[in-house]
Order: sequence, then C-alpha cells, then structure tokens
Amino acid sequence: MLEPGDIIFYSKNLENSDFSNAVENVVKDNLLFHVAILSDEFRIIEAVPGNIGVIEVENIEKSLEFHSPRELEICRLKSIDKRSRILAGKFARSKIGKKYNDIFTHNLINSKNDESFYCSQLITEAYKNIVSWPPHTLNFENSDGELIEYWREYFEKRECRVPQGDEGSHPAQLRKSQLLEVVMRIVPGGISLKNLRNSKIFDCPNWISGNSVDLPSDRKFDVIEPRSGKTLANWSYATEEHVDYTVQVAQKAQKLWANTNWLEKSNVLRKTAELLKLYCDEIAYWECIDNGKPLYEAKADVLSCVDTFTFYSGISHDLLGRHVPIDPSRFAYTKKVPFGVVASIGAWNYPIQTCSWKTAPALACGNSVIYKPSPLSPVSALILGAILKEAGLPDGTFNVIQGDAKTANALIEHEGVNKVSFTGSIPTGKKIMKACAERNIKPVTLELGGKSSLIVFDDADLDTAVSCAMMANFYSQGQVCSNASKVLVHTSLIEEFTKKLVEKTKNMKIGDPLDENNTKVGAHISEEHRNKVEEYINGAICEGANRIYGGERVTVNGFEGGFYLSPCILSNINSKMRVYHEEIFGSVLLIIPFSDEAEAIRIANDTKMGLAAGIVTKNLNRSHRIVERLNAGNVYVNTYNDVSPLVPFGGFGESGFGRENGVAVLEHYTQIKSVFVNTANCENPF
Ligand code: NAD
Repeated sequence: MLEPGDIIFYSKNLENSDFSNAVENVVKDNLLFHVAILSDEFRIIEAVPGNIGVIEVENIEKSLEFHSPRELEICRLKSIDKRSRILAGKFARSKIGKKYNDIFTHNLINSKNDESFYCSQLITEAYKNIVSWPPHTLNFENSDGELIEYWREYFEKRECRVPQGDEGSHPAQLRKSQLLEVVMRIVPGGISLKNLRNSKIFDCPNWISGNSVDLPSDRKFDVIEPRSGKTLANWSYATEEHVDYTVQVAQKAQKLWANTNWLEKSNVLRKTAELLKLYCDEIAYWECIDNGKPLYEAKADVLSCVDTFTFYSGISHDLLGRHVPIDPSRFAYTKKVPFGVVASIGAWNYPIQTCSWKTAPALACGNSVIYKPSPLSPVSALILGAILKEAGLPDGTFNVIQGDAKTANALIEHEGVNKVSFTGSIPTGKKIMKACAERNIKPVTLELGGKSSLIVFDDADLDTAVSCAMMANFYSQGQVCSNASKVLVHTSLIEEFTKKLVEKTKNMKIGDPLDENNTKVGAHISEEHRNKVEEYINGAICEGANRIYGGERVTVNGFEGGFYLSPCILSNINSKMRVYHEEIFGSVLLIIPFSDEAEAIRIANDTKMGLAAGIVTKNLNRSHRIVERLNAGNVYVNTYNDVSPLVPFGGFGESGFGRENGVAVLEHYTQIKSVFVNTANCENPF
C-alpha cells in the first residue's frame, strides 16, 4: 500500500514552550511540525535538527516512537508517475549523513557551510524538477511584524542574518499542495482508555499495528446509532491494498508472537481480562451506542468477554502435544502449531463478545488476528484493540479493519491469511466456504444462523417456562442466533402459559438503551432490519397467524429516529408459513401447541439448521431422552441462551461447523504436526 516517494507529515499539539510558541507564530494555521519521505527501500528518510541531520529510520513504528506525533499522515503525489516517486525516494536516501540546514537557506548550506537539508527541504529537493510546491516565504516575525525573540537569538547564535522573507518551505505549506492525496492517517493513542467515553473514536476507524488508523477510500459507509437513527460518522471500507498491508503487518507480528513464551502470552490475556473488567462500564456505553442493546445487557456482554480472556489465559496445558511410543526404537510426538494469520469476520448482534470469542483463543494458540466487524456495529472491536495493546500484546498481533463483503473477500482470498473464522448468516457462510475452498483450501469455522425450538412439557414449572421463553426470544431485541422463536407448548398448559407470558412481556420497558434502570428493550440494529422483522410479522398475520401482543413500532421520547419495535407474540402458526421455517432474528415468539413427545421432537427438528434447542420439564428421564433426539449443537434444559467460555458453542447442519469457546475451539486455531523419531539405524527396505 505504501510506495517509495510517499511523503509523511507529522503533527502534534503544540505545548507551551518557547520553541512551540515561536513556531506557532510562524505557522499559524497548522500543527504540522515535521515531514519525511519513504525511500526506495521503504525506510523513512528524514532531516532531523541538531547534530543528527539526514537519517533513515527502519519503519513507521520506529518513527512514531522517535517523534511521538499526535497524528501522522502519509500522502502520495497523485499525478506523478511511479518511477519519479521511486527516484525521489532514492534521492533522499543518497543524502543520508548530510547535516541539518539550521539556517534554512535556500541553497542547501548550513551555518557551518556544509551541504545540508531541513525536513521540508529534503522533500522539495527530492521532487524539485517535477512538482511546483505552493510558494512559501520564510517568516520569523509575529503578527505585529516584530522579530520573535526566540528566532533572533537562534540566528545570532549561528552568526547568521535572519532569512526573513526569503524563499523557503515548511511541512504545513507542502501539505497544502493540491497534488497530494492521503493514503493513511495514523492517530497514536486515538482511543484513550483513561478517557474512553470522550475518546475521539469516530476519527479512528481501523486498528492496525497498535494504532488507530484511517484508511481513506472511495467506498464509504455511515456509522449509524440505532437508538437515535443519527449518523455518527462516515467511514471508508478498506480496499484490497489496505487488506494487503494489514496482512503483512499481521504476518510479521505473528512470527514474534508464536515464539513468545507461553507464560507471557498468558499474562497478556489475563491482563486483557482485568482491563476489560476495569473499563466495563465505558465499553458497555459504546456497545449501546454502536448496537442499540440495553446497557445492562451490554455490561453482561463485556463481563462475558472478561471470562473468555480469563479462561484462555490459563489454557496453555491444553495446547501440549502428545508423546506416542511406537516400538522400542521408534516414537513420535505431536505438536499443536498455530495457523498463522487468522481472518475473523463478525456479525453485528454481539460485537465485542463475538470479537473476543474469536480473538482470545486464536491468540492463545499463537496466531495473529485481523478482525473485520460488521459495518453495522464497527466500534467496540477497536476498543478491544486498545485494551490488548495496554495489556502488552505486541503491535500488529491484533488488527481491526472496517469493510463490507468486498473487504471480507479480499481478506479471505489473501494468500497470507491462513484461517478464516466467520459468524453471520447462512447465505454469506456458503459464499465464504466456497471462497475458502477455492483459495488454498483454507480452513474455516462457520457460526451461522438458526431456527430453534423451546419445548415446554406438561410437567414444566410455569414460571421457569415463561422465563425460558422470554430469554429465548427477547434478549437483544431477539437478535440472537440461538433464539428459539418456535415455542412449543403442551396443549394442557397453553392457556395459562400464554396469559403469564403476555403479562410479563407487557412489563418490559422499551426505551433508551442507556437508561440502565428502566430499559429492558432497546433498539433494533437498523431501519432495514426493523423493517425485515415487521415484514415477517405482517407476512405471518396475512398467512393466518394471530397477533397476541406487540410487534408494533414504538417512539421513544428524545430518540424519535431510533429503530424500536415492541416484542411480539404470535399464535396459530402452521408449517406452511415463512416464520415457521426462516430465521427471523427479531423479538417474534411463535406459540405452537403439541400433544406428545414425538410431535414436539418432529416440529423442533423440522429444519435444516441445528443451532440450539431447549426443554422445560421437571422429569429427569424425559429431559435426557429428549436431549438425545434433538438435532442441535446447543441444548438447554430448564434454562435458555446460557453461555460459558468453558462450554463449546456451535451448530449442526446448516448452522455451521467448528466451535467457539471451550477447549474444543483450540483445534480450530491450531494444526497438528506429527514428528516421527527413530532411535536406531534406519533400515533400507530396497
Ligand atoms: P451477514 O452474513 O450479513 O454478515 C456477517 C458478516 O459478513 C459481516 O461482517 C458482513 O460485512 C460480512 N459479509 C456480508 N456479505 C459477505 C460476503 N458476501 N462475503 C464475505 N463477507 C460478507 O450476517 P449479519 O446480518 O451481520 O448477522 C446476522 C446473522 O448472523 C444471523 O443469521 C445470525 O443467526 C448469525 N449469527 C450467528 C451466530 C452463531 O454463533 N452461530 C452468532 C451471531 C450471529
């Protein structure tokens, strides 16, 4: 993505020092303080004041360390051919070792009469014959036309006249050239954990190499706040070039991380858990803004991430290989080795949780991660980036890039990506699996949609049954993959169950997600998604379903543009309806009566998906009997939507394969290397 000849501008907040004030007086409109150029060997060439002069710095990370800028912008001269840019980089490299031009003379001679350059002069000279930079006159006077004391002394010390009014250059003036386009903006410390709520999070769409990075492109998307419908930012989708750059960063970092001592890896993950806990309230705040879910849920999500990182911080013993004795002179051993770079692509319903579920085990196994969140909830993964950095994760080991299907495909198809982990819909999952097959037979984990059932038997405790049904449908506005929209209720209980369910559902306050004390139902993720859920409800009613409660738009005072919908209960459902077969992904609970076990199992298994199922019963024998016959990856008995990092999560059938959580996930982030060892002479069978 970066090219030789690219120009790097550094800006900073001017602190209150003599020098800063002097510069501020001279360059009023900008905080740019330095400029450098990328050489033909991708090193940074710059002229630095004092005795340093023209030097080369290994890479951007080192340059950031050296200058600690507030912001760094990498720009390219647009209409200049590549060859000329390479030559400009070569020119700069040929000047390494030259002195600093401390008196800013036009003729490249400093106070000691050496050939010399100041920072912007190196750039103007490198592009001397191809670019006419905006004119610039050196100015060392204040707005009243008086020579600034700092500069008077400066030139006096060097026994030189003040070059007031001479022709010159300055980074701020170079930056004004219409020929420049921004390739990348880096904002070190762009996400401040200590002041997370006021962080300028919307200035920093990506997290690459331990920094907040903006990667401008022509394809853009709005970041919309579900609770108000307001547009919070307009971000760029990462391009193929951006993906390529990020993969290179992740590849380099992975080599170091894989060889990091296991205890150090554990410490980073444990520290991450501690920091997630420490900043739980602030992260949950952003999760509400980003996703629209109620604050109490967002806090629970963050705390579940704490558990996830804690669990994987202690997982090293499960990454051990085996010693396999074969006969007295032969044995083998197996090693679990990381894949390398893992590309993780997430859905929008559990932004920080999905990201943590994928990232913690992938890192524990020694991989590096590039996470692409859904454009509908792109924020919290960035915060996880800042937390992992603070916890000591080496830069580049975890990266976040924003994008859509095109970006995701660029990632999946990149030769440097070794494993793909996906959470999302079945149609997208199919495309991803195909792309993975076509590109290097790339291993893939698919966590896809579901159409699950909760079976309430005649011996069920009614309160438990109602709680399970609500947990299985109304959490996160029903936008939960494992939700059991089909609630199968034994005919003998149906009247009482429905009455209690409606009563409790009516009590759920719909409101501003940030109103922690009152709100139980927040906003749907987007207008489009709310419309889709409404279509399912209206479609079912047209097909003969009865609306028992809800499914109506709700206006929340002060948040009139938000995407609110009341939880919906429908009855009179039959197997010809769309809602019976398709994932609704909204708060739409379908009450379906049944008379015996066989019928309940038939209805529950009447789907190609197999993500989850639930049973409410007091009969121990029955519960185990039914568990055996349910075709689902996750089954809940007298509970629903329970999660624990200790327990694998994933689906059967079209709901995907591979697992998140538990020890089980480790096999999806490692591959086994078997090593045969012969302790005797090797026999030759030929
Ligand atoms: P989606 O498939 O539309 O998008 C998921 C991700 O894939 C997003 O990051 C999106 O940008 C990307 N994407 C979209 N089209 C793509 C393409 N053609 N190629 C590559 N990437 C592409 O799903 P969604 O609407 O974000 O999420 C809702 C779905 O996710 C539901 O079906 C839900 O059940 C499922 N989900 C499953 C689980 C699970 O663990 N099984 C968890 C959460 C959500």
